[in-house]
Amino acid sequence: MEQINGIQVIAFDADDTLWVNETFFREAELKFVELMSAYAPRDEVLRILFDVEMDNMPIYGYGIKAFMLSLIETANLLSGFQTSARQTNAIIEIGKEMLNKPVELLDGVEEVLQQLSGKYKLIVATKGDLLDQERKLKKSGLLKYFHHIEVMSDKTPEAYQSLLKHLDIEAKELLMVGNSLKSDILPVLEIGGWGVHIPFHTTWQHEVVTRKVSSENFCEKESIAELLPLL
Ligand SMILES: [Mg+2]
Repeated sequence: MEQINGIQVIAFDADDTLWVNETFFREAELKFVELMSAYAPRDEVLRILFDVEMDNMPIYGYGIKAFMLSLIETANLLSGFQTSARQTNAIIEIGKEMLNKPVELLDGVEEVLQQLSGKYKLIVATKGDLLDQERKLKKSGLLKYFHHIEVMSDKTPEAYQSLLKHLDIEAKELLMVGNSLKSDILPVLEIGGWGVHIPFHTTWQHEVVTRKVSSENFCEKESIAELLPLL
């Protein structure tokens, strides 16, 4: 796809599309590995943590608070329920530190939003925790460019359909821009929208998709600035 025609709304994913996110989770995991070093080696800690997170996903959803609870549960499993209150507190601190991180915008984000905001309706479509995503949006200074912020509990084709309904547009009038093929792109292509994939250097295991995407409505770009010539 070399040109995108007929769209009205551009939806941006937030984490690892507008700002750095996954890097902070990887750093937090390494701190957790360190805390758990008496109980299990790195790979085992990470494997069990991932399993616990996947089991908890349907009830906790995405975000840092869900991650913190999964860390505590993993610590209990790894230690045979010997984790001390002090260790539990150290885990909570790992999460709080993440929640207080400054927002690091990715290269070109502000310029691109500035250029596009006059021509299209821009929205944010993100997963994660409502309060935390609002915090990051406020800190980012980007709120002024967006008409609407949609915090979705999951990015399924059905969830995008109801977003379209809310926006009162057809699927072919929506472009979604994001770093996750699985969450940001594939469900939007499935319902007939447009998708531009901008990979981030780190992808959470849960979001990894290996299949090749071929669609008239799809392309992959290295940076957000490369959106501009498409529009
Ligand atoms: Mg993302």
